[in-house]
Amino acid sequence: MPLHTKIFLGLVLGALAGGVVQGTWGPKEPWVVWVRENLANPVGQIFLSLIFMIVVPLLFSALVLGVAEIGDARKVGRIGLRALGMTVVLSGLAVLIGIGAVNIVKPGEGIDPKEREVLLANYKTADAEKKVEDAKKAKTAAETIVEFVPRNPLASAVDALGGGLLPFMVFALIFGIALASIEAEKALPVKEFLGGVFATSLKVIEMAMRLAPYGVFGLVFVTASTLGVSAFVALGKYAGLVLVALAFHLVVIYSLAIRFVAKRDPRRFFGQIRGVMLTAFATASSNATLPAALKSAEEDVGLPRDISSFVLTVGATANQNGTALFEGITIIFLAQFFGVELTVGQQFLVMGLAILAGVGTAGVPGGAWPMIAVILVKIGVPAEAIGICLGIDRVLDMSRTVLNVTGDITIAACVSELERGDRSALATAEGG
Ligand code: ASP
Repeated sequence: MPLHTKIFLGLVLGALAGGVVQGTWGPKEPWVVWVRENLANPVGQIFLSLIFMIVVPLLFSALVLGVAEIGDARKVGRIGLRALGMTVVLSGLAVLIGIGAVNIVKPGEGIDPKEREVLLANYKTADAEKKVEDAKKAKTAAETIVEFVPRNPLASAVDALGGGLLPFMVFALIFGIALASIEAEKALPVKEFLGGVFATSLKVIEMAMRLAPYGVFGLVFVTASTLGVSAFVALGKYAGLVLVALAFHLVVIYSLAIRFVAKRDPRRFFGQIRGVMLTAFATASSNATLPAALKSAEEDVGLPRDISSFVLTVGATANQNGTALFEGITIIFLAQFFGVELTVGQQFLVMGLAILAGVGTAGVPGGAWPMIAVILVKIGVPAEAIGICLGIDRVLDMSRTVLNVTGDITIAACVSELERGDRSALATAEGG
């Protein structure tokens, strides 16, 4: 049985078992509490810890390598800058759509406050409370900015799950930019080493995912045995919202970029890359789709090879619009679900992190989750919350990967057109 089917089964069985228990005995029955605390929760916790343990090496290697590649892009010159500009604009729009939609629809609200309190009490630890308190303390803009630049990046890494992640990522960014600007032969061993760290980190995630069906069962049981069905109504709304927002970004934003920047007919364009979109959907992995994307960009869309191979290769890891949009919705949804109010400033922080996450997320199935877990902890939402979403993640993962890959080819088409314009202007000038 494929893993995602097992994870889905974990969700269904956990929800059924928890729902029946909640409906029959109620959430506070002593034996129910015992099962929750001694069986279901520990399994869920171990699964989560496996994901958390790999966050620092994974993000560091992914971000440094991603930035170093974009840094190389500077050497490739204008093409790189144009691709980078489009990446920032498209990811920014994606996150805006996601966060806008989740704030309008509010899928995470409507949970009975009494039940939510029981749920929160299950998860409440002194540590989490401290984080919420810290988050509430108002800081001036200057203080916040100064704190983003760490004095001691190792200390930030140690505290990555408790608020050190952002400064640590800033360190990784600076390190990546510097790595791109030193002599190639000195940079090479560092890149190779980090490439190895990255591959190993992906393996750890793969191993953790093997435990996911049981972890999800445990986490969902905890939720369902306290909340009953209202949790699953919210979950359904959330999944629907993610799909609608992704479709909007694809149909409206990409089409506009293709029509007005790439000067192509969007319908024809999507038709040409249909095979790539299907591959992305089937594999839920940008990396696995890369060969198909390279082939189709050249043969079906007719993009120049130098531009498309460069933009698509970098984009497979460094440009993930669908993931950025999805992370924005998921984080705010879970905050609503747990009744955590986010200030406007925190929402902007989530936006910024989600855009960065587009660069730092590995292009593999479920690549988005380590980042989501960390951001949740940062804003005071229990990380266990992800158990609720993971059970239905496969189909959302498949869908956001389609956007990630389509976004890369869209950018390649736009950059090709801009370059063509410049080249022909140059030719006319020379000719005249
Ligand atoms: N599966 C996605 C990709 O490969 C990453 C993620 O959002 O989990 O593009």
